[in-house]
Amino acid sequence: MAPLSILIVGCGVAGTPLATFLLSSPQPSQEKPHITVLERASTSRPQGQNVDIRGAGVTIMRKLGIETAVRNAITHEEGVQFVDDWNRVWAENPADKTGKVQTGTSDLEILRGRLADICYLRSRAVSEAVKREGGRGIEYIFSDYLESLEQDGDKVHVRLAKSGEQRSFDLVVGADGLQSRTRRMVWGEAGEQKRVQQVAGMYGAFFSLPKTSTDSLWRRWYSAPGRRGIMVRPSDSRQPDRMTAFMMIMSDSDERLRSAARDGRKGTEVQKKLFAEYFEGLKWECPRFVRELQKADDFYYDMVAQVKMEKWSKGRVVLLGDAGYCASPISGMGTTLALNGAYNLAGALTQHPDNLPAALASYETKMRPIVDLAQKLPLGGRAPYIMNLETAWGLWIRNVIFYFMAWSGVAMLLARFAGPPADAVPVEEFGFKQLEEWQDEEKA
Ligand SMILES: Cc1cc2nc3c(=O)[nH]c(=O)nc-3n(C[C@H](O)[C@H](O)[C@H](O)COP(=O)(O)OP(=O)(O)OC[C@H]3O[C@@H](n4cnc5c(N)ncnc54)[C@H](O)[C@@H]3O)c2cc1C
Repeated sequence: MAPLSILIVGCGVAGTPLATFLLSSPQPSQEKPHITVLERASTSRPQGQNVDIRGAGVTIMRKLGIETAVRNAITHEEGVQFVDDWNRVWAENPADKTGKVQTGTSDLEILRGRLADICYLRSRAVSEAVKREGGRGIEYIFSDYLESLEQDGDKVHVRLAKSGEQRSFDLVVGADGLQSRTRRMVWGEAGEQKRVQQVAGMYGAFFSLPKTSTDSLWRRWYSAPGRRGIMVRPSDSRQPDRMTAFMMIMSDSDERLRSAARDGRKGTEVQKKLFAEYFEGLKWECPRFVRELQKADDFYYDMVAQVKMEKWSKGRVVLLGDAGYCASPISGMGTTLALNGAYNLAGALTQHPDNLPAALASYETKMRPIVDLAQKLPLGGRAPYIMNLETAWGLWIRNVIFYFMAWSGVAMLLARFAGPPADAVPVEEFGFKQLEEWQDEEKA
């Protein structure tokens, strides 16, 4: 039987690990799948701020042989400090550096762009090795995206928007993130509102900014009345003089925020203006963030949302990572789910090489339990309303409660029992070759 030809749309945290695992199957190199990775951005180093790898994600990271590279790139965040208008710390929730307790800061915090880059370079190294053994390896196409996608029973036929090239594949994997175009093309625009469910009316903006004397390895979390907040977090050793910011707004009524999210990168200027408007005139270090967000060239904005679908495949198209089951950044599980999905999809395709429907059904069965758990947000989804309050009084009371919770150890106890469910589902064995530890030559 001819090797499967697979198009992976999206060179993010899910896409290239899938390619790497598919090429690490026990088959001879000539029989391994022919893989094409298509990425809309011009480089493998798109932006993104702090993400974490937890539990099963750590096991899968080790299987990819990227633990050393990841550990060399972590941000060394110490934990979270809740600060007020005068930058007074009310409570500290430290990271558990053993990786056993899932607090807000995992022991493996890394910048998203850096992780995506490590995953890409890892896949390229594996692809080169497969080519040396006579296999096809991976073809990467940057700066392009799908203009059309049609499937008959045997193949998926696609046309690339920029090159105009037409290609056919046995399987197309949509690993193109929360706003997945693959999902919209195959499942239809009409159902998007039902599939992409915003969490607590929340919108988030991520960017980096210069470090100042008030910054440290602690994440500082400031909340303002009107359900607005800013987190400032350490960056990595490649950018020791920079910090990363996450600014959030909760609003069910401001249609401008929703329409700015629909515009994606095209809407950056409008998105920046909206955030500046919401944080203008606030206390703490807000003027600094308002100033810096306008200068940022790595500004990334989206609604905070979950993707909920009854089925992740349709014919010969399957969704992976945020595209199919985004749990939102507040779950702390996005990266771990993306790595799990890549691993389980590669496993299912390797176990059922001549039976695509069986492989896709098996992927579904393996992923559903962990996705369901990850999408159950703390306190039945009410946590954002408790963290981000409407009034100054409410925030003061919240800070007092946080003070006692941190001081008494209750906060750590809660994390032990109600932290992200990163270890809840075991990582199955599929007989992939254990990849040797690899290091990014450019490591700091
Ligand atoms: C630029 C960016 C910044 C982010 N920043 C953060 C952050 O700071 N904190 C956080 O918690 N999460 C962030 N995320 C989300 C986080 O990366 C994911 O939740 C998680 O890693 C799951 O990965 P994924 O591979 O499923 O999706 P993603 O990491 O989102 O990767 C999807 C990839 O697909 C590409 N793509 C999108 N559309 C197309 C298309 N039509 N054709 C081809 N390629 C396409 C994107 O450029 C991206 O490389 C960010 C995502 C992006 C794209």
